[in-house]
Amino acid sequence: MVAVNFFADSQTTHLVLVSTVNHIARLRTFVQQMTGLVQSAGSDEPLILREGGALLHELVTHDDWLPEQFSAPDPQRYRQYLLHCDPYERFSVVSFVWGPGQKTPVHDHTVWGLVGVMRGRERCEEFAIDPARGVPVKTGEHLIDPGGIDKVSPTVGDIHVVCNALADRASVSIHVYGANIGAVRRHIFADGAVQPFVSGYANSVTPNLWDRSGAA
Ligand code: FE
Repeated sequence: MVAVNFFADSQTTHLVLVSTVNHIARLRTFVQQMTGLVQSAGSDEPLILREGGALLHELVTHDDWLPEQFSAPDPQRYRQYLLHCDPYERFSVVSFVWGPGQKTPVHDHTVWGLVGVMRGRERCEEFAIDPARGVPVKTGEHLIDPGGIDKVSPTVGDIHVVCNALADRASVSIHVYGANIGAVRRHIFADGAVQPFVSGYANSVTPNLWDRSGAA
């Protein structure tokens, strides 16, 4: 939502443009679009990943809407802030914030997921279960720059490590998952063992997407 006011500067007689952008509207629009997508796509995961990836790309190419409290790094570990959860828990949107040097363990998701880098740079290492030994082995790695989108799921590849690729500043990405991801029972792989894992969230309040009083 953009509110634009024109007024004449009496000293110079020039027109001055004052633009007040309601930045959080970008997230509200994304949530509305994702809600429509999961409603119409049902269980068509390829469609959700394709169309949702395009929507997420559009969202993360604008780094002007994420409230500061949901992009704050923690000196101890990476943070996962809940931004929105669908009322039927068909999808959730989170911001991931990595300080310099921070990384996830080797983990899976068990549901579809989209990762869109918005700030900084992230490195993703991909893993697959070795059928002979039953443990994850690294199969590749790649860097993700702002605007870049990664996809995960049990059908397209679900195990990875993500870290901040920058040594001097935080990196921030926006993730969308096909569930209330903070409450999903999933797995961490460490030292040849599989550990159950439920991530939770770093925050107890979510952004207010719905104050549209300025436009009303
Ligand atoms: Fe992940």
